[in-house]
Amino acid sequence: MAKCAICGKKIAELFLEKLKGTIVKKPGKSKQYPVCFECQKKFKSNEELLKEIK
Ligand SMILES: [Zn+2]
Repeated sequence: MAKCAICGKKIAELFLEKLKGTIVKKPGKSKQYPVCFECQKKFKSNEELLKEIK
């Protein structure tokens, strides 16, 4: 199960590939970071989310 890249919590999977949350990509990188719904709410923009991902 996917873990949130920010808080480390497991992200509940709703259906087969649909995560409750979002997938963030760093510009120019192919790695994808899953982010849970709560962190998505906390950090409104993509830039803010990326800043929180180590
Ligand atoms: Zn989170």
